[in-house]
Amino acid sequence: MKTPASASETTVSQAVTKGSCPICEILKDFQWTLAETTQPQANLRLCNFHVWALARSRGKLSRSTPGETVTSVFLDILKSPLVGKARTEECTLCHRVLAEEVARLRELAQRFQSPMFVQWMTSHGSLCLDHAPKLKEFVPLRMRPAIDKIVERNRSELERELEAFREQLRHGIHEGGGILGRVAEFLVGQRGL
Ligand SMILES: [Zn+2]
Ligand SMILES: [Zn+2]
Repeated sequence: MKTPASASETTVSQAVTKGSCPICEILKDFQWTLAETTQPQANLRLCNFHVWALARSRGKLSRSTPGETVTSVFLDILKSPLVGKARTEECTLCHRVLAEEVARLRELAQRFQSPMFVQWMTSHGSLCLDHAPKLKEFVPLRMRPAIDKIVERNRSELERELEAFREQLRHGIHEGGGILGRVAEFLVGQRGL
C-alpha cells in the first residue's frame, strides 16, 4: 500500500540518522512521492522546477507506474486552456512541499521536548542554514541555543572536511566530491532533485 499523498515515506526519526539535515532529507524524498501521486486535476498550476521534476520522475520511479500518471497529468495540461508556467507562489506542488515542510518542522520540534533527543542532536545531528532558523520558530525559546550549537558543530565539521578535500585535490586525488553537495545543502538547504 502506498503512503498517502500528504506524507513522505521518510519519518523524522529515520531522517535524523542520515547525517544531513532531516527536513532536507524528508523533502528530497517527498518530491518523488509528489511526482508519483500527482493526479490530473483541474487548475493544476506548475512552476518550472516541478514541471521538470515530473518530466524526470519516470526513470526514478520505476517501482510503480508514475510514467502513466505523469503522462496523464501532462496530457490534461495540454488539453486545457494554456496558461503558461506558474510562479512558485501559484504552483500546486510548491504549496504541497511547503505544507509538508511545516508539518515536519512541527514534528521535529516536538522531538526537541525530549532532553535525550536534544543531547543526541547536539552531538550527532545536522541542520541546514535554511531549516535551523525555521525550526527555531517551532521550539520553545530555551531550546534555541541547542539549535545554534548543532549548526555550529556542522559548520566546523564541514570546514574540516572541506580543508581535507582541498589538500587531497592538491595531491591530484579527486574522489570524495560529495562533500561539495553537503556544503551546498548546509548553506542553502534543498528540496530535492
Ligand atoms: Zn534543511
Ligand atoms: Zn513548484
